[in-house]
Amino acid sequence: MTHPDIVDIHNLTVEYIHGREAVPAVRDVSLELAAGETLALVGESGCGKSTLALALMGLLPRDESRVTAGEIHLQGENLLQKPEEERRHIRGRKMAMIFQDPFSALNPVLTVGYQLQECIILNEGKPNSERSAQLLRQVQIKDPERILTSYPHQVSGGQRQRVLIAMALAGHPELLIADEPTTALDVTVQDEIMKLLKGLRDNIGMSMLFITHNMALVKGMAHRLAVMYAGQIVEYGATTDILTNPKHPYTQGLLRSLPKIKPSTGPIPALSGQPPDPMAIPSGCPFHPRCEKILPQCPRDDPADRMTEGQRVRCHLY
Ligand code: SF4
Repeated sequence: MTHPDIVDIHNLTVEYIHGREAVPAVRDVSLELAAGETLALVGESGCGKSTLALALMGLLPRDESRVTAGEIHLQGENLLQKPEEERRHIRGRKMAMIFQDPFSALNPVLTVGYQLQECIILNEGKPNSERSAQLLRQVQIKDPERILTSYPHQVSGGQRQRVLIAMALAGHPELLIADEPTTALDVTVQDEIMKLLKGLRDNIGMSMLFITHNMALVKGMAHRLAVMYAGQIVEYGATTDILTNPKHPYTQGLLRSLPKIKPSTGPIPALSGQPPDPMAIPSGCPFHPRCEKILPQCPRDDPADRMTEGQRVRCHLY
């Protein structure tokens, strides 16, 4: 059964303003997220993943960035045409976001309970202490009364991230944007948070945009996968198809460089080179200085999107 898209982004381009320069961060990005599904957005740091999420939330720094082209539709409505007042109303209610660093996302001088109540008042118009405890139980915090009276520094990193997830759930959002939600956590805690997010998504039926630099996290988590490089989506399709048959040389390199749990047969084949500086993106295909399959036209011509075996790929090989 196909679900209607909750998010539909068309040809989105976002720039940061750096002095007199315009620095491209998101370039001509199109993607869809169906209701109840999870889309993973994967790529190295600085490729534009978080900028895309901030554009979707309407949280781009106003004086330092601009959307120069494209449309962002949420349930069929173009968010970019809505006044800030209306977008503020949408944030928290229709969509919510959890951030990478659960410590800096909480106010250190206010108790967890106070901060959770702020979210509840914003969404329900009045305080509701029973709802605070219920939200903490929903994110599997076993002693909500203690956590509610604690300050952020008095709870563990994993509990802080659970609190942030609870705050995001306060407005019953239909879309949850999780921006590297496990990066700042220990590996065992990472696993618990991933299981929690999956459980919440399945039980509540939320859609999720899951942002990560770690390909290993998307298997079993995301229905669809978008691989991002230098501000562009270079490969997009069903997660199982991309993981079993990656088409773009960048996706192939990311998958090859994942550590394997089996006796070592030598060093892990890491991707060579570094992601480009957004102020000096290479001409043609931006991946060409790192590509093992480079063709003569690659340094000259930026490839267009092509559909091949159900995957959308931006590469001259197809
Ligand atoms: Fe490599 Fe060329 Fe494809 Fe870019 S377009 S990924 S350089 S083969």
